[in-house]
Amino acid sequence: MYKTDVVVVGAGAAGIGAALTLVDAGQKVILLEKGNKFGGAGMFGAQGLFAVESRLQKEAGVSYSVKDAYHDLVDYAHYRVDLKTVKKIVEYSASTIDWLQKHGLKTELVNNTQEVHQKNLQTYHQYIDKFTGFSHLIEHLEKEHGILLTETSGEKILLDTDGQVSGVQVLHQGKTEEILCKAVIIADGGFIGDQQLVKEYLEINYENLYSMGERKATGDGLKMLENIGADTKQPHLFENHAASVISKDNLKWHNNSIFSLTNIPLLWINSRGQRFVNEDICYDFALWGNVTYKAGGFYYYLLDEKLVSFLTKNSLDWTDSFERTFKTLAHEPMTYKIGPFNNLKADLNEAIEQKTGWIGNSIADLAEKINVSSTVLENTIKSYNNLVKAGKDSEFYKADQFMKFSLKKEPFYAIKACSTTLGTLGGVQVDDNFNVLDKNGEVMQSVFAVGNTAATNMFADSYPTIEGLSCAFAWNSGRIAGETAVNLVHKN
Ligand SMILES: Cc1cc2nc3c(=O)[nH]c(=O)nc-3n(C[C@H](O)[C@H](O)[C@H](O)COP(=O)(O)OP(=O)(O)OC[C@H]3O[C@@H](n4cnc5c(N)ncnc54)[C@H](O)[C@@H]3O)c2cc1C
Repeated sequence: MYKTDVVVVGAGAAGIGAALTLVDAGQKVILLEKGNKFGGAGMFGAQGLFAVESRLQKEAGVSYSVKDAYHDLVDYAHYRVDLKTVKKIVEYSASTIDWLQKHGLKTELVNNTQEVHQKNLQTYHQYIDKFTGFSHLIEHLEKEHGILLTETSGEKILLDTDGQVSGVQVLHQGKTEEILCKAVIIADGGFIGDQQLVKEYLEINYENLYSMGERKATGDGLKMLENIGADTKQPHLFENHAASVISKDNLKWHNNSIFSLTNIPLLWINSRGQRFVNEDICYDFALWGNVTYKAGGFYYYLLDEKLVSFLTKNSLDWTDSFERTFKTLAHEPMTYKIGPFNNLKADLNEAIEQKTGWIGNSIADLAEKINVSSTVLENTIKSYNNLVKAGKDSEFYKADQFMKFSLKKEPFYAIKACSTTLGTLGGVQVDDNFNVLDKNGEVMQSVFAVGNTAATNMFADSYPTIEGLSCAFAWNSGRIAGETAVNLVHKN
């Protein structure tokens, strides 16, 4: 049986942030990780984090302040957030950049990787060699006598007769064990890996959700907290992010042409066959994700024979909305063009075989195949063609440059794009020290929640379009909880 000061459940950014803060203050820490690797979504998925007034920003002359960021975030959330929490996360953000660097994870200041935010002041700190950097963090933890236990799941928070934390029950390589401790920090990454919980909180049909998030984040933390009387009925949100064309039969399926065509503003229709958005929303990932979610979880983008032949032979001077993400990482210049897609017909056939694409010999034929009214679809296409002819989108105000392709020549194609999430946000109520609150709103001493699981107070109904905020929240909430736990353990 182990004995320690603090048990941290989950070795993602939030958990590592908390654990390092504790060992640096001389506390004994056991960091639990369910899988056989540390890092979570912050390592395998994310590329960086948001910060304001960092050393890198000062060197680059960026004049965006803590006050500016605070206002932007609370306004975006319509004040439906905890203002002290938002302010604290933003205030901590600059020091976290130096703190990460000191512990071995370097970052560089880059532009927001979303096309429509190119004029924003720089706040995105992109990881440099993140896998090595994360390894350095864990080496530091172990050098300072912290213990990382992989393949060890936190299962239950144990309380003594006074209701104080006395330990954590874990499943360690198949065996149930207890770790004695004085405080516990839940950092398990939310619940995107648990189908039942997702179905409970998802407002769209589960079939239409594609998750890129951490599969091992199965809501264990929320269940552990619920069991000891915490308030776990706070909003449970999805981190909607763009939309994806996927094969339900083969989740590994990827086709470059289909991917690029998903990332440009062609004509999109909803499940009723109607246009529903200015498709150039694809240049803002959060808003694109949100409008897809709101449309019922999916939409189709449409092509006709003329557009297919054009794209087979020609490149188009539009930007693939994901190009900047990859180019910024590789430090390569943007091309601002897509195509030509030399095998586009074969690519479209692949999508059809994967049951995510359909072809119709007429609009009515396509309508029948995708189960929408042929009259509605014919009207949608006719009215879109008129807008293209006028060169102006008077319906949703898509930029003129994208009003280029009318759809007239059969066969017609429809490709289905699904709602996509990076994970879940929220569930449990915490205060601005990330101390968990019980159902009466009272602080549960020695119990903390950080990262995705505790994000209710930072994000109202979705995460804002400012890039890197979820990682900023994870690292900073971890550090703040760690510091609070240090004081608490000292007192006891
Ligand atoms: C593809 C992708 C790209 C992203 N890009 C960005 C980006 O560029 N910038 C940004 O800010 N955000 C980004 N995000 C979101 C961001 O990565 C997450 O919000 C953030 O990393 C969450 O950190 P966390 O520590 O709360 O959770 P996680 O990173 O999910 O870590 C939780 C850890 O806990 C472990 N765990 C779960 N249950 C238990 C248990 N019972 N016991 C022990 N361990 C357990 C999990 O295995 C996991 O390792 C991205 C997410 C994805 C999926």
